[in-house]
Amino acid sequence: MSLISPSLMQRFDIPGPRYTSYPTADRFLPDSEASAFTQALAQRVAGDALPLSLYVHLPFCESVCYYCGCNKVITKDHGKSRDYLRYLEMESALVSDRLGKGAGRRAAVAQLHLGGGSPTFLSDEELGQLVASLKARFDFQDDAECSIEIDPRTVDDTRLAHLRRLGFNRLSFGVQDFDPRVQLAVHRVQPYEQVAALMESARALRFDSINVDLIYGLPHQNPESFARTLDQVIALRPDRIALYAYAHLPARFKPQRRIDAAALPGADLKLQMLDDAIRRFIADGYEYIGMDHFALPEDQLARVKRDGLLQRNFQGYHANPGSDLLGLGVSAISQVGRAYSQNVKTLAEYYAALDAGRLPVERGLTLNDDDLVRRDVIMRLMCQGRVNFEAVERRYGIHFETYFEDALMRIREFEQFGLVARTPAGLEVSKTGWFFVRAVAMAFDKYLWLHADHQRFSKVL
Ligand code: SF4
Repeated sequence: MSLISPSLMQRFDIPGPRYTSYPTADRFLPDSEASAFTQALAQRVAGDALPLSLYVHLPFCESVCYYCGCNKVITKDHGKSRDYLRYLEMESALVSDRLGKGAGRRAAVAQLHLGGGSPTFLSDEELGQLVASLKARFDFQDDAECSIEIDPRTVDDTRLAHLRRLGFNRLSFGVQDFDPRVQLAVHRVQPYEQVAALMESARALRFDSINVDLIYGLPHQNPESFARTLDQVIALRPDRIALYAYAHLPARFKPQRRIDAAALPGADLKLQMLDDAIRRFIADGYEYIGMDHFALPEDQLARVKRDGLLQRNFQGYHANPGSDLLGLGVSAISQVGRAYSQNVKTLAEYYAALDAGRLPVERGLTLNDDDLVRRDVIMRLMCQGRVNFEAVERRYGIHFETYFEDALMRIREFEQFGLVARTPAGLEVSKTGWFFVRAVAMAFDKYLWLHADHQRFSKVL
């Protein structure tokens, strides 16, 4: 029997946010003065500072993958990354000057993530220069988790060894699908043997954790071909697997216009591929973390999930409770204290702001008290799959059932279909409910119901 029935899909596979933040980034307001961000940084310095997570966005890629929805710059001109690094250093200086160094271990960087684009577009020398400049500007914990997204087409054993020497201890491989026909249709050709050899080298180099990203719903995929990819991935035994649904939104993402819509699998085939993948991962010893993530039981993500300490931010699920996030580079998002802020999206705007000595912030938001309560509830649902009413009442001085009367009415439908249960302590998402957890969380999103605009998002599965 299918884990997710077609009738559940029909009813609950609705468009909705992925809740990497609440309020979601589309609610941020224009803030070119970076007032929300600078105020939050000042409060951080004055208060009991939390550990830091650093995210650096490196937007360059040599060629475009047609399914891509990221903020990227396609170029073969490697001179561009040299310039970009110079500006990243300027931004790091502006931010770190506001924070000051030497605030002690508690306020140091616990997590660094390089994402993109393709971070491995940078040369070995440039990656070394970037890490050195970040370490010169920010205090790092000795055991900081340092991860980088790997485009297997731009890396070899020597590069992996270099990354390990630079202190990276986690890798994330963009795989998506191993089927040659699918790879050709999405313009990302990287043979299985190439990825397998890299993963073997990464293990020999003792990287702590290896993640593989997969996508279902790509052109020419079908349950049989995807099952072969699943076999190959499971044989490689990555510590973590992220399985994303492809959302075909060619009006929004230009590269997707090069995908032949007639070659896309229909909703029934997508559901079958998802169902097969979940079964395979669980049967082969992976634990379901939430949304689209799976991890081996000994991986840190699975451990923090079991301990009820799983967290979520703009990079997805993570294991660093109570940290502030600083995003550097074009379109990067920061979350400090009560504030969110997002950088400008183009290189021209980014360079112009920094040339003028300004933080390259485009928009931001300082959360009000209501946002804080709702963020807490939504993140608890997304990470732990449960909400304890009394704990929320104690933290925010509210009466849960009165404050969230509307949301609890919306939740009733999920209760009727066994996706959520009312427990003596509060709400608990069921095993099947986890696959629709975004839709459950939407019940508590005030902005969504105020503006009735959830159709803009991709579907929850
Ligand atoms: S999927 Fe990754 S590698 Fe491909 S174009 Fe997008 S950012 Fe670049």
